[in-house]
Amino acid sequence: MADSYDTIVIGGGPGGYVAAIRAAQLGKKVAVVESDKAGGRCLNYACIPAKTLLRTAEIYTEAKDGSEIGIVAGDISIDWDALQTRRASVSESLSNGVKFLWDKNKIPVIEGVGSLTPEGNVKVGEEVYEAGAVILATGSVALPIPGVEFGGRVLDTWGAWSLPEMPKKIAVVGAGASGSEIASAYSRFGTEVVLIEMLDQILPAEDNDIAKIVERSFKKQGIEISTGAPVDNVEVGESSVKFTYGDKSAEVDYLCVAGGRTADIEGLGLKEAGVEMDESGRKIKVDGYQLTSNPKVYAIGDLVNKKALAHKASEEGVVAVEKAAGVETHPVDQELMVGATFTHPQVASVGLTEAAAKEAGHEVKVGKQKISGEGAGTVYDDKEGIVKLVIDAKYGEVLGAHIVGNRACDMIAELVATMALEGGYQELSRIVHPHPTVSETVLDAARAVDGWAIHA
Ligand SMILES: Cc1cc2nc3c(=O)[nH]c(=O)nc-3n(C[C@H](O)[C@H](O)[C@H](O)COP(=O)(O)OP(=O)(O)OC[C@H]3O[C@@H](n4cnc5c(N)ncnc54)[C@H](O)[C@@H]3O)c2cc1C
Repeated sequence: MADSYDTIVIGGGPGGYVAAIRAAQLGKKVAVVESDKAGGRCLNYACIPAKTLLRTAEIYTEAKDGSEIGIVAGDISIDWDALQTRRASVSESLSNGVKFLWDKNKIPVIEGVGSLTPEGNVKVGEEVYEAGAVILATGSVALPIPGVEFGGRVLDTWGAWSLPEMPKKIAVVGAGASGSEIASAYSRFGTEVVLIEMLDQILPAEDNDIAKIVERSFKKQGIEISTGAPVDNVEVGESSVKFTYGDKSAEVDYLCVAGGRTADIEGLGLKEAGVEMDESGRKIKVDGYQLTSNPKVYAIGDLVNKKALAHKASEEGVVAVEKAAGVETHPVDQELMVGATFTHPQVASVGLTEAAAKEAGHEVKVGKQKISGEGAGTVYDDKEGIVKLVIDAKYGEVLGAHIVGNRACDMIAELVATMALEGGYQELSRIVHPHPTVSETVLDAARAVDGWAIHA
């Protein structure tokens, strides 16, 4: 037996790296097993590369269309090589930041592929490390659509964000957060984009009112949207991909499949270690403290529960190691797992959609306010945005909050806090917000519930 540890974390993504740091803070002897790069897929292949390119798309569009606000730029164009170099260097610098934090917290990294032994210890190569507790944090991998394999001109999301050239035409299959972000960035770079969603709305998890606004905006920006029909008859050629969708067909430079991901559990030795899967059969079964059916094995992040989000992974990591260490903690509130989509405009939401609240039997009141109604909306050119609050009519509890707008992903934090602290719209409608900020829209949306939004 090699070294022994109080806690061994398998996977160094936003779930695993945070879990390891929290365990060290609690005085535990902890190690991370990582087969690739510090920071996991989020930092190196997913969230961060996506946001880095989206940032370029944002600045490019603002500069290109800036004459109205007094910026007249000459020949503006995208330098694809520079953009990809920055993408790589942002990820590298954040990954180094994670390594720095591990060093600072005296957390060794065991490089290699980790798996569980039947006793619940951790095997890497030929070495077995004894563990008081194991945190599984191996994340998820992309799934292709049936009959189509990734490779060549068929891309997963990482393939789309790391393309060596700017395509003339791209199709994105799956209009969830990841697919919509790819469509939003490429269309602003000047690529012709077709965004295809099998369900009947883009951003299927979002409130219908919100998805409609984004769909309208995407169409205005030139993105072709198809909903309610799958992609079929995919023919991958040397220099293009042909396919059909509904009663249409297309030929594109690249087909990006952003349809779904599956937990990365291959070779982890779950069955032998008595770690059971949940009722979906695709994720690991855990309780509210992330404990699996093996009493010393915890699982976090994309391996568990419904949503796949970096901040969810991190919070589950904190709770898992606190529980394993026997200190006071609390289960992660999955109902308050906030979603953030960095399209143009951005979309952010927490809690129930209006339809889901009604389906759950709530008597619902709604407060809506346009961001353009507030002074800041005009100053900052937030023309399409709204804040929508879904309220329980009986006590005024905020059941859900939904925002479209250029800063939606920052604005939503206030509503997560309100819901976590069990605040109602009554409190929200009396909380002073700074002027001129787009956050004032939240104040008016709360007032709109009783029909007294000032700027409506
Ligand atoms: C394109 C894209 C954009 C996204 N954007 C956002 C966003 O803006 N915001 C957001 O919150 N979420 C976003 N997500 C989701 C987010 O990336 C995931 O929810 C998050 O990465 C999950 O973190 P994790 O720690 O569970 O796993 P991961 O980040 O997947 O990390 C798992 C790590 O485990 C390692 N590993 C796997 N198996 C083993 C093994 N057996 N032994 C050792 N190491 C192993 C892997 O190499 C990897 O480094 C995005 C996802 C995609 C695909």
